[in-house]
Amino acid sequence: MTIQYTAVAAVDAIMSKAWQAFHIYRKMSLKQRADFMRAIAKELEACGDELLEVAMSETNLPMARLKNERARTMYQLTSYADACEKGDWLDIRINTGVKESIPAKPDIRKMLIPLGPVVVFGAANFPFAYSTAGGDTASAFAAGCPVIVKAHPEHAKTSELVARAILKAAADCYMPEGIFSHIHSETFEVGQALVANSFTKAVGFTGSIRGGKALYEIANQRKEPIPVFAEMSSINPVFLLPEKMRTSATEIAEMYAGSITLGVGQFCTNPGLIIGIDNEDLNKFISSLSIAIKNATPAAMLNTGIFKNYIEKRANSLSQPDVETVAVAEKEPLMYEGIPTVATATATAFMNNPLLHQEVFGPYSLIIKCKDLQEMQKVTKQIEGQLTATIMGSVNDIKENEGLIDAVKNICGRFILNAVPTGVEVCEAMHHGGPFPSTTDSRFTAVGPDAIKRFVRPLSFQNWENELLPDELKNENPLAIWRTVNGELSKNKIA
Ligand code: NAP
Repeated sequence: MTIQYTAVAAVDAIMSKAWQAFHIYRKMSLKQRADFMRAIAKELEACGDELLEVAMSETNLPMARLKNERARTMYQLTSYADACEKGDWLDIRINTGVKESIPAKPDIRKMLIPLGPVVVFGAANFPFAYSTAGGDTASAFAAGCPVIVKAHPEHAKTSELVARAILKAAADCYMPEGIFSHIHSETFEVGQALVANSFTKAVGFTGSIRGGKALYEIANQRKEPIPVFAEMSSINPVFLLPEKMRTSATEIAEMYAGSITLGVGQFCTNPGLIIGIDNEDLNKFISSLSIAIKNATPAAMLNTGIFKNYIEKRANSLSQPDVETVAVAEKEPLMYEGIPTVATATATAFMNNPLLHQEVFGPYSLIIKCKDLQEMQKVTKQIEGQLTATIMGSVNDIKENEGLIDAVKNICGRFILNAVPTGVEVCEAMHHGGPFPSTTDSRFTAVGPDAIKRFVRPLSFQNWENELLPDELKNENPLAIWRTVNGELSKNKIA
């Protein structure tokens, strides 16, 4: 398969086509959008093992993981399609007018409408679920937006096969030309030109903080600034509370050894920071975790860039003052394999050294030893925004440490109790997002059907004749969707 690279000069024509497609696609019914998304899921399945084999050769990910990830991607497409048709995300509010009141109350009906063409930058670590036909693409299609994918160069062929599947589904469903475009580039300029283009109305990104911020800044410097939903960096702190540790230090260590090394640590929800009280229970935890980490098997990382980053950032972290390496996998790593590693640092070292707050993307975790719970709370206040935070604690631990619990709640998007952060369920209640720098907009999720809401904006119709209103807002409620009418949630017709 030969990869065709797009030149910066071609960007305007691609975006202009997407803009034209937008005016057709936005008017298609929720059912037409949903059927298109279901057709993409079917085409992904029809790609068979060839797609999985190409992905395996490009990413070093094992076949079983890739199979699961494709199934997850298909589920995202079909479950967001169901949500699209159900229409709850449209957030409809209707206040019917009262002509007799003085002054007359106008009839006002609000719904969410699509923003326009969305540019998606695929993730290195999820070649299916957060790439070409992944969560960003699925939510944009559900919202009514055309999509332009900038392929991740480290799985370009996988991306190409998925793009062909999307285009086949688009043709089968009579979608307008320009509903989906797929771009490979050899330089950053093409991606930057896509973000800067006036027809682009939003951006979805998963990757490094450097990349995310660069694109965010371009979007903000445009004549018309646009939203960039960038998921970037998270170290997912885990707090070990005293009563829980007294009874379960060993079990927690075993659970966490699995979470730290899962997928060679290449998950945005990897637990990179573990915070405990410096006592016998923490020592027990560290020695159990050390045994498991020493016995863990290094495995090949996604690509040479991510491997080099891991080696460099791990070495930087381990060489900081008051950081002590406590366990490294004993099996000699082969070329490009990430070595599972755990280190400790004092709370003072952590609080004085911002480098220790940075993500080390891979199977690495730093344990912070605090003198007491007050110091743990001080440490928490220094931690930046995170996708997740986890409390390992008993009911008493939680009840007795309200200040700490509040401080932790303040820095995360998903708050976990007595479990591990790795594993992100695709469901309506999921929030996969968090305060900066984990994302650029903590108000939105990248997982679950609420992700659709990133690519829409509210529009109020005032004083419009019933027959001129969109079906979603008509008195008859022909789509039978839930709407809040004069303060009451209902599917009823308006008399
Ligand atoms: P990346 O370097 O940020 O690249 C992601 C995508 O953004 C690529 O398509 C890249 O373009 C583009 N890009 C990056 N910087 C850009 C810029 N200044 N202007 C225009 N486009 C830009 O991320 P990566 O290669 O996937 O991984 C690198 C590191 O990111 C990892 O080692 C890890 O630390 C972090 N990461 C974190 C997560 C997480 O979930 N927390 C996930 C993935 C990666 P090109 O195609 O031209 O390279």
